[in-house]
Amino acid sequence: MKTLFLNPPSFDGFDGGAGSRYQARREIKSFWYPTWLAQPAAMIEGSRLIDAPADDKSVEEVLKEARDYELVILHTSTPSFGNDAKFAARLKEQNPDVVVGMVGAHVGVLPMESMKGAPAVDWVAVGEFDYTCVDVAKGMPLRDVPGIAYRDGERVEFTAPRPAITDMDALPSVIDVYKRDLTIENYYIGYLQHPYVSFYTGRGCRSKCTFCLWPQTLGGHSYRVRSVENVEAEMQRAKELFPQVREFFFDDDTFTDNQPRAEEIARRLGKLGVTWSCNAKANVPRKTLEIMKENGLRLLLVGYESGSQQILNNIKKGIRLDIAREFSKNARELGITIHGTFILGLPGETPETIRETIRYACEIDPETIQVSLAAPYPGTELYRQAQEQGWLEIQSDDLVDTHGIQTAALNYPGISKTLIFNSLDEFYKKFYFRPRKMFTLFGGMLRDPEVMKRRLREGVEFFAFLRERKTTA
Ligand code: SF4
Repeated sequence: MKTLFLNPPSFDGFDGGAGSRYQARREIKSFWYPTWLAQPAAMIEGSRLIDAPADDKSVEEVLKEARDYELVILHTSTPSFGNDAKFAARLKEQNPDVVVGMVGAHVGVLPMESMKGAPAVDWVAVGEFDYTCVDVAKGMPLRDVPGIAYRDGERVEFTAPRPAITDMDALPSVIDVYKRDLTIENYYIGYLQHPYVSFYTGRGCRSKCTFCLWPQTLGGHSYRVRSVENVEAEMQRAKELFPQVREFFFDDDTFTDNQPRAEEIARRLGKLGVTWSCNAKANVPRKTLEIMKENGLRLLLVGYESGSQQILNNIKKGIRLDIAREFSKNARELGITIHGTFILGLPGETPETIRETIRYACEIDPETIQVSLAAPYPGTELYRQAQEQGWLEIQSDDLVDTHGIQTAALNYPGISKTLIFNSLDEFYKKFYFRPRKMFTLFGGMLRDPEVMKRRLREGVEFFAFLRERKTTA
């Protein structure tokens, strides 16, 4: 079947790509790559991938481009599901014969609800969907495709479960799909050099953080990896196809989960002479950091989440504050930049733990930070807890407002969601408006006119975002 993979148009500037842990519109223009869709697209000859938010394509433009396809596969998320269901209906209106599928964590966790909520959709994938898409595109009858829920007249039927992929090297590289279908200059992440390219070297995370979407839905809790040789070959190809790229990012949940492998990949990357970055937990030993730094590592994206040990224990983060402090000190001494991510509104949050977390962030002082609001996604332990404890006051698809901006979803006895929501602005201001931090940021801008241009644009976007949050609060 002539197949189109589609990250559909949703909220303006909506970042729902693969690396997006919280699908939402961000403080500044930000798009992760649609790697989850690029993977099956790489396995189906003649298919095409459209990333409508990154390419700023409207509903009408995408409908026009989708007109001649027999199979359209949409990636959806909890916050964008309502919009995506409406888009699916427009696809069917335009071409009643088109087969429409939906993939992603949301439909995998709530297949029956999703089929009911999106009547134009013919099937949804339950679990990993790479080979599922291949089977459907080959024209296999839906009843024979493992790992889906599909429509049979008025009824929704389920097929046999599809086992998780074990041979990761069997998955072809996504790089050629990026080259063919995406405009890499459209992808921005505030703390990564531009243009950047990201992809996966493995799936899954050994940690069991209660709020974290991907390992509890699509990825699983073992780190399934591609061989070092396979990763090296993909990087070589990426370098050839994208000589303009200034930084490569490994989007694996926790690239440093397998330290000997991370060190070996680093050595290979060092020989290729690329600048690279990755996700890491705040417990990487100094020796591993040294090897990675010597071989081109520029930045680590680290989920610190909270400065309260009790909250870290509550969310099963599996990290101690003293270890995270030591790790941060080592990274700083070695010249590794850190982008630290924090979450407000996790179980156990109080006004005092918020102050503690802000103090902690200022103390460990990552180069840049991102502060999110705890989001209970269906399929996570946090979501189950929130339902059981009565913390959840909204529908799960209200995780963002009408502009795609994150809302505070959880209300605890000791702290209101309004206070949690408002603390996000205070966090950013207390972190960034310190003389030392401002001096460092301005220094970087003065050294590089490109950085200056970009930071000024991001500054304007950032303040506009804060204003917009205030008006929607
Ligand atoms: S360590 Fe990071 S990726 Fe792994 S479960 Fe925790 S938050 Fe998720």
